[in-house]
Amino acid sequence: MKKILMLLAIPAVLLLAGCQKSASKPEVVTTFEPMYEFTKAIVGDKVDVENIVPANQEVHEFEPSAKQVATMTNAEAIVYNSNDLEKWAKKVNNKGIKIEASKDVDKISGDPHTWISPKQAIIEVNTIASELGKKFPDDKATFEKNAASYVAKLKKLDSEFDTLKDAKQKTFITQHEAFAYLSRDYGLKEIAIAGLDPEVEPSASTLANLKVEMKKAGLKNVYFEGNANSKIAETLAKSVGANLIGINTVEGLSDEQKKNGDNYLTLMQDNLTALKKTIK
Ligand SMILES: [Zn+2]
Repeated sequence: MKKILMLLAIPAVLLLAGCQKSASKPEVVTTFEPMYEFTKAIVGDKVDVENIVPANQEVHEFEPSAKQVATMTNAEAIVYNSNDLEKWAKKVNNKGIKIEASKDVDKISGDPHTWISPKQAIIEVNTIASELGKKFPDDKATFEKNAASYVAKLKKLDSEFDTLKDAKQKTFITQHEAFAYLSRDYGLKEIAIAGLDPEVEPSASTLANLKVEMKKAGLKNVYFEGNANSKIAETLAKSVGANLIGINTVEGLSDEQKKNGDNYLTLMQDNLTALKKTIK
């Protein structure tokens, strides 16, 4: 009898522990990959952080589920990139604060891709750290220290991108128009096949003009991202005999990138290596 009771008691304890765990709510909710990484680098283990947009999902087209909206509603802080991108995060009426990471960035009208420039990523990390420090004053000093060490890594990346300014050939072709901040900050010229939203297909005349531009500049490479539709890039690459080279917008991590332990810093380093094949 005693043995039976013991056996019954174990699952009950496990069940209770399970309930307690699922009942714990994240204090901070981030929208997508770079916001999650920047925030995690700042808070460490001091507060719980949960990310909303899953890996492999396109942030431009994303809409949160009812459950995710509930999670955001309960959050002490929501960290999102910009009012132009995660409009759904801006709309949530959460009990705490909302942090628009790009609020201090000198914006290019209508273009949300601020994080793809390390210079702007530095601004965003400092904004997130200072706003979270106001919300969690006991952890302010830790956040500042952590932010400073992450910013040091970003500054190293920034100085490496700065070397592109000395190149003679500064034009590069991308599938998804996501590199305007990077181009502005490091003196490059991006020609994009698709628009700001990678799911929108370019017109035939856009493709024809691109062919002309590519020939004129003697460009052989077209940059595309794994997460978006690369058929357009493939078509163009084939018709002008160009090479396809991968580039990352860090809008999400693929399963393979996750397995490799990739993150914003490693993927931006890969971008620099990839760009150097064209920017010379
Ligand atoms: Zn994008």
